[in-house]
Amino acid sequence: MPNQNTRVLVVGAGPVGMVCALALNRHGIPVTVLEAEPAPVKDQRAATIHPSTLEMLDELGVTEKIRDHSLLSSIYRFHDRPTGEVVAEFDLGRLKDEIRFPYVLQFEQYKLTAAISAEYANESDFDVRFSHTLTGLTETADGVEVEYTSPAGPERMTAAYVVGCDGGRSTVRRLAGIEFEGFTYPERFIKIATSFDLQSVKPDLVYRNYFSDPNEWANVFKVRGESPEGLWRVILPIGQDEDDATALSPTRVEERLQKFLPKSGPYHVEYRDVYGVNQRVAATFRQGRVLLAGDSAHVNNPIGGMGMNGGIHDAVNLTEKLAKVLAGAADDLLDLYSRQRRHAAVNYVQAQTIANKRLLEERDPQVRQQKLDEMRRTAEKFDTARAYMRRAALFDSLQDAAAVV
Ligand SMILES: Cc1cc2nc3c(=O)[nH]c(=O)nc-3n(C[C@H](O)[C@H](O)[C@H](O)COP(=O)(O)OP(=O)(O)OC[C@H]3O[C@@H](n4cnc5c(N)ncnc54)[C@H](O)[C@@H]3O)c2cc1C
Repeated sequence: MPNQNTRVLVVGAGPVGMVCALALNRHGIPVTVLEAEPAPVKDQRAATIHPSTLEMLDELGVTEKIRDHSLLSSIYRFHDRPTGEVVAEFDLGRLKDEIRFPYVLQFEQYKLTAAISAEYANESDFDVRFSHTLTGLTETADGVEVEYTSPAGPERMTAAYVVGCDGGRSTVRRLAGIEFEGFTYPERFIKIATSFDLQSVKPDLVYRNYFSDPNEWANVFKVRGESPEGLWRVILPIGQDEDDATALSPTRVEERLQKFLPKSGPYHVEYRDVYGVNQRVAATFRQGRVLLAGDSAHVNNPIGGMGMNGGIHDAVNLTEKLAKVLAGAADDLLDLYSRQRRHAAVNYVQAQTIANKRLLEERDPQVRQQKLDEMRRTAEKFDTARAYMRRAALFDSLQDAAAVV
């Protein structure tokens, strides 16, 4: 018999939580989102939305709304930093006859969450509560009793299901006792955003660039920021011998940027952050009535821009199945969600991001040359370039996960 209480509680109003809530709302399921922070967070992490994700967001009516506020980027390049050469160029425009959006949108994740919450947050069946922190979960026969703190003090509510979209340090995952298997890299990454036009000193930059370098790899992206000129983001590794305070100091940030692209006069830096980097996947994405999606279920290094995209793919897969279960279908559909999305996380997102980092940092000169030559050959031929781009844009992960039964 269908469950009477069909409200789903989403924990976390990050990009995955908000897409999950919107998708549930579109299925006619009442949803409450609890978010610990007092207001939408201006999170400057993800910025690249891949074509496969744009198709999903389009089904939710989001893609058209955000496109004019994004940077469109169809081309990405691999550079050899020591020689300054462009090794390979991939152009999603070559796939225009087979994919609906032959480009990525460079659109910061805080804008995506704001775009969704601005339109839907005030509906009673889609209520988003800031300054509400989940603290406890107890599963009952037909639901989950949830404890949380709010400005009014400790409170409780009951939901049919709880979806933990509460990030890499997920409380939901911990309360459900689900292992987070994997490893942490010894180095951290620094992201530096500058309003200086990097193309003026390196004209062969496109909006997305990966630099291979045995001493210091780099990723360089353009984002829209808050002004028409946009911002350039540079991501670099930080060694274990350097602490965060030193890495973030204006002198060291300037030194890093000047070493990467020397120019006269100092760089104007808009923001900078240091990140610890993990490759981890939850042992299961489902424990009874508790589900995990996004970073709570899997984390990876950001080279290739796959974490948020994979998380949005989780949210869309999960909500389709949850809608059926809430309408009376057998709940083992939720185990299928876990199997399918865990498969995509392990075999695609983890595998690809680990390979991406290895390619950029390869130290052995012979192996490095082989890898760069292979990348060059892959980009040159249409069939191999197509296969590479479809995999990097996560289309293969979706197709392969759909075949998991
Ligand atoms: C430098 C960098 C660049 C990146 N670039 C990309 C990219 O281009 N493309 C891409 O796909 N991915 C990228 N990523 C990864 C991406 O940022 C994450 O995968 C994404 O933020 C995950 O979204 P989420 O909604 O699952 O979790 P989060 O964004 O971490 O959101 C979790 C939310 O839960 C809230 N929360 C936590 N605990 C509680 C609680 N107990 N109660 C209530 N609320 C709680 C938090 O306050 C937070 O708002 C990048 C990461 C980094 C570090």
